[in-house]
Amino acid sequence: MIIDDPRFKTKYSRRITNKRWRDKNKSHMQYLKEQWEINNPAKPKIHKKKWYLDNIDKQNGLRTKRRGEIREFINGLKKDKPCIKCDIIFDPICIDFHHPGDKEFSISYAQRMCLTNEAILEEVAKCDIMCANCHRLEHNDKNFA
Ligand SMILES: [Zn+2]
Repeated sequence: MIIDDPRFKTKYSRRITNKRWRDKNKSHMQYLKEQWEINNPAKPKIHKKKWYLDNIDKQNGLRTKRRGEIREFINGLKKDKPCIKCDIIFDPICIDFHHPGDKEFSISYAQRMCLTNEAILEEVAKCDIMCANCHRLEHNDKNFA
């Protein structure tokens, strides 16, 4: 566990102490903030905008790359698994993860938000593997029949 790490402990307790001090001296912090803003007009905005423009390609590239990785990972989980209803093995793109019980998030959401493989595995463990047709029929039954 990371909290047992002594380095983390020091860092963590220092952070807590700093936060306590800041909470106690709120008006002083406000004063410092105002002073800084007077001395540095428009600096943060410019800095943020510059960082955004400097890093937009890199950030978007990283995100796209990670989404691709997640897609591969999820397709690997679906591969060569039969649909639980019709028992046919389809291509991974035709397979859905059906939540029979409680649902924290959908697997497509996990891909969109670039969640970790561990989080995805945890959610997939709650799911049944179902082909897209059976999945639609399943939900149609629930909603309208
Ligand atoms: Zn099916």
